[in-house]
Amino acid sequence: MSRSSGIDKSPDELRAMVRPGLVTAAALAAVLDAIAVGVTTLELDAIAEGVIRSAGGVPNFALEPGYRHTICSSINDAVVHGVPSGRMIAAGDIVSIDCGALVDGWNGDAAFSVVIPDPARPEVVARRQHLADTTERSMWAGIAAFARASNLNEVGAAVEDAIDGAGEFGIIEDFTGHGIGRSMHEAPDVFNYRVRGAGAKVRPGLVVAIEPMVTLGTIETHVLADDWTMVTDDGSDSAHFEHSVARHVGGIWVLTAEDGGAAGLAEFGISPVPIA
Ligand code: MG
Ligand code: MG
Repeated sequence: MSRSSGIDKSPDELRAMVRPGLVTAAALAAVLDAIAVGVTTLELDAIAEGVIRSAGGVPNFALEPGYRHTICSSINDAVVHGVPSGRMIAAGDIVSIDCGALVDGWNGDAAFSVVIPDPARPEVVARRQHLADTTERSMWAGIAAFARASNLNEVGAAVEDAIDGAGEFGIIEDFTGHGIGRSMHEAPDVFNYRVRGAGAKVRPGLVVAIEPMVTLGTIETHVLADDWTMVTDDGSDSAHFEHSVARHVGGIWVLTAEDGGAAGLAEFGISPVPIA
């Protein structure tokens, strides 16, 4: 029998998580390719669904009770869980896309943020780009910490330090990363900031989604009338990056990155190792 906890997956189970990771990565790459002014978030949703289904997978977000879509599309002050709609991407938007694929019983989960060019508002674009860059770098800092960590709290500490070192930002606390495997969300929680407890032991077989959510203002959020979209209370912009990462006997491998995370981890002196 396969275990369903985020902790202690067997080598066979880790190998089974490679495909869902790559299918998730391919869906997000196709969405990134298609993002442009005038494209609706429902159109982006259809693109992601097409990639996942043609790879033999199922969009795992649509398996969440009450949710019908393949992606979450969270724009500007939306932190996470934005619902695809007829809303068109506009110049200057910061767009966060979160997506996951279930393939042969195993899950992938990943997200990115991108800032749409807007020649009329260079200062807005620069501020949002700095937010996106800082959030992405904090994710890689967290993943690098995961490669070396004895306990999971070292990940949150690394994320927090990366963000604190880059300026004035808010780290969302209402949502965290998580274990991932047969379910998209499994134990343990992965905090994006320092916590008192040491957290789970980090050892071969642990697979987690590391996903900092960062704002240019408050960390307080509320849900919109659609019952899904989480926005910042003060209307400040937000960014979100996420990868699913496996620790195995040889090292770590970023399952939702085509290159296993090599490019993102280079500045931290970590080389990802394919799961044998
Ligand atoms: Mg996600
Ligand atoms: Mg997640």
